[in-house]
Amino acid sequence: MTCCIFCAILAGNAPATFIHRGELVSAFMDIMPVNPGHLLVVPNQHAASLAELDPGTGAEMFRLAQKLAGALRRSGLPCAGVNLYLADGTAAGQEVFHLHLHVIPRNPGDGAGMRRGSYGHTRASDLAIEATAAALLRAIEP
Ligand code: AMP
Ligand code: ZN
Repeated sequence: MTCCIFCAILAGNAPATFIHRGELVSAFMDIMPVNPGHLLVVPNQHAASLAELDPGTGAEMFRLAQKLAGALRRSGLPCAGVNLYLADGTAAGQEVFHLHLHVIPRNPGDGAGMRRGSYGHTRASDLAIEATAAALLRAIEP
């Protein structure tokens, strides 16, 4: 994958400030941070989407994000809380198609956060919840 900016970063062909280089996953600073300390955890091997991501690598991404969230809280940077955020697909807000897990320090009143869409403002009926759960249960692969 030649035109992927994160592959270029991982190959040393584009600049980045690395926080971690591992066998399966790496982490570097986001250049447009939501707050200071905003990090991206990425698989070393290109995967555009969750569907393409090796599950073991996905587990390593979460493990590293958890560790870095702890480091952020101890770092002295303003960090009263942490959001982990992953966008899978354009409709979910993904802009760089090399999957990445955002680790975002949060503070009261920082104005960041995910807005609820219009559908999310009403209490779903029990029937609707049961029906959507049934659709999901049918789709879960063993
Ligand atoms: P997303 O919308 O989830 O795909 O997020 C893409 C993220 O990648 C944004 O937060 C960007 O600021 C960040 N980003 C884009 N290019 C670079 C880069 N060259 N180095 C570091 N972060 C980047
Ligand atoms: Zn890539």
